[in-house]
Amino acid sequence: MVAMVRQIVAGVVLSLGAAGAVSAQALFDGCPSGQIQQRFAEFGKTGKMPPDLGRWLNTPEAQAVAPWKAFDNVDYVGICWVSAWLVHTDEGTVLIDTLYGPFQQTLIDNIAQTGTDLSDIRYVLMTHGHFDHVGGAAALKPLLPNATFVMTRGGWDEAMAGAAASEGTPRAWKMIAPDMVAADGDRITLGGNTFTVIETPGHTWGTASYTFDVKDGDETYRAITIGGLGLNAIEGPEQVEAYIASVDHLRALVEAPGNGIDVHLSTHGFSNNLDEDRQALAARAPGEAHVLVNPEGLLAQIAFLRDRAAERLQAEQGK
Ligand SMILES: [Zn+2]
Repeated sequence: MVAMVRQIVAGVVLSLGAAGAVSAQALFDGCPSGQIQQRFAEFGKTGKMPPDLGRWLNTPEAQAVAPWKAFDNVDYVGICWVSAWLVHTDEGTVLIDTLYGPFQQTLIDNIAQTGTDLSDIRYVLMTHGHFDHVGGAAALKPLLPNATFVMTRGGWDEAMAGAAASEGTPRAWKMIAPDMVAADGDRITLGGNTFTVIETPGHTWGTASYTFDVKDGDETYRAITIGGLGLNAIEGPEQVEAYIASVDHLRALVEAPGNGIDVHLSTHGFSNNLDEDRQALAARAPGEAHVLVNPEGLLAQIAFLRDRAAERLQAEQGK
């Protein structure tokens, strides 16, 4: 008995040791939004990816997040630093963004864990042409027999260019040929839900945001996935001006009387405390408000994005 206990204790110590090693590599304990945002802010200032942050971004064990239900019709199937969302309807499911490289299997496993058949996915809405949002499209395409892949013209172009530029590098990725080309104001309806395309150039020129309905019990709210948040791909002051115009457009949509937007299901959860909200939602008491229904938080985030872009515009104009 004593020997067995010793063995168990030794096993626990061993597994703690292993967990310790993983978390050292993980850089963070769990998926803490504030700490991650701070590291990205440092990266943004220097423009150089710190090696430990780079490793963390590409380590499946460090990035793993169990799929969770954000709304009655929405599942989170992304990883810690980049999102993928499933929006279910009576006539099939919409996937928003595709993850990339080491996380292609993660996404497929996460989708399966929600009980969603890959053949149920009818659309893949992609926000912009950066690898972390569209790098998984090539692997997904043959697995989703009923899905149409959607992005703006500019998004498709920048994805093709990004994939071509990655050839021969350690993180080479491939892009599928353009499927459906979406433009500002386009509406895709599926099973009573309407997904509206809002072109929001700025993060990249081809960036799009999408709005759609989310359900919580008897309540329906309008949600948005803002396609790009960072100023890490800016090529000049005109692009920052476009970013600011897009942010102003989004603010007007959020504030629209009677049909505003109440929920932000973001592309990078650390930008608006997604993991902390996930934990709050898991601890939600019956009758309590839904933590993700937060138009004030969305407006505050939009104001933050605008302030940061205005600063960047001054810097770009001073170059
Ligand atoms: Zn991006």
